[in-house]
Amino acid sequence: MSYQIPAVPIDTRVFPEHYAIARAEWLERLAMLELPSEHAYFPCRGGGPDGDLLVTDVVWIGPSSARRLLVLIGGTHGIEGFAGSAVQLDFMRLLANGEFELPDDVAVILIHALNPWGYAWLRRCDEDGVDLNRNFVDFSQTLPPNAHYDELRPWLFIQDIQKRKQFLAEWQSKHGRTALELAISAGQYHDASGPFYGGTKPAHGRDVIEHIIEKFALADKTLAVIDIHTGLGQYGYGEIICDHAPDSAGTKMAQRWYGDSVALPLLGTSTSVPKTGLLDYAWHQLMNAQSCYVTLEFGTFSTDALFEVLLEDQRVWALHDPLAAHAEHGQIMHRHFCPQERAWQEMVLFRARQVIAQGLFGVAN
Ligand SMILES: [Zn+2]
Repeated sequence: MSYQIPAVPIDTRVFPEHYAIARAEWLERLAMLELPSEHAYFPCRGGGPDGDLLVTDVVWIGPSSARRLLVLIGGTHGIEGFAGSAVQLDFMRLLANGEFELPDDVAVILIHALNPWGYAWLRRCDEDGVDLNRNFVDFSQTLPPNAHYDELRPWLFIQDIQKRKQFLAEWQSKHGRTALELAISAGQYHDASGPFYGGTKPAHGRDVIEHIIEKFALADKTLAVIDIHTGLGQYGYGEIICDHAPDSAGTKMAQRWYGDSVALPLLGTSTSVPKTGLLDYAWHQLMNAQSCYVTLEFGTFSTDALFEVLLEDQRVWALHDPLAAHAEHGQIMHRHFCPQERAWQEMVLFRARQVIAQGLFGVAN
């Protein structure tokens, strides 16, 4: 016995045009499921560009007594929710058709648009400029320093892009590529106008996660968590990033379920450097030795392009009101984080089906 991937043709129309359509389709697919389900929703502060209500939706699908769970998360980074929605919509269709079956004692939790504000406004951060995936730190303690970020900060938003690139290249030749990526993207906690800012208090998405961990008693369950991201790594490739410690039970479980494609930032085998305040850490704390959390990260363009597009986004949003900034830079963000190319979208859906099948099989056995 091994895992089975549904052999149903890929339909890229599951990639939504924008957040509100994604939510409507997600609710429609949910209504079509004949399995038992329990739906909860969590509005966030603020509205969308068209005044839409912004909501994180969570659903438990399957027997309420299940002790093993597959958890699929989308939209931790707002705009990356396009892929998260597409994967969940595809999964719900396959579940409705019986192409994916829930093994005994297994249920699924879908978390849709964990940062709905960023999704609707085509940004990676939330309304407060907070990167939810750097927000899981203990705010009662001194917040983690990032001295290299402070060193780079005066150069990050200068008008002359060539000058900035030259400065970063020189800095990199002195300190190395990993140090540069750590400085910019590992996380920082005092520059609210900068990228990868972790905030000063728990964000909406963190409140939602902490609420559902309690509501569904997830500390007592065996868990396969897959958090879907985009924008880092080779174009179209879905890298399984495991931020468990290299010698931990979580890493052993990830390798058993997902094989040698598991990449570890702490060993330098991932396109991601180690990071502060990840959503992963909230789940690691409650996981038993048969559980693991992985990020499924779909590459788009280069890491340099990622940094440039994010710095430009911060610059535009600092200069303009939200509607103007959204109009000026939203589509550039959308193209970077969710290329509207059929081949890229197909790669996302193929790989996601494979990883979901592996996670379902792994958590059930
Ligand atoms: Zn991400």
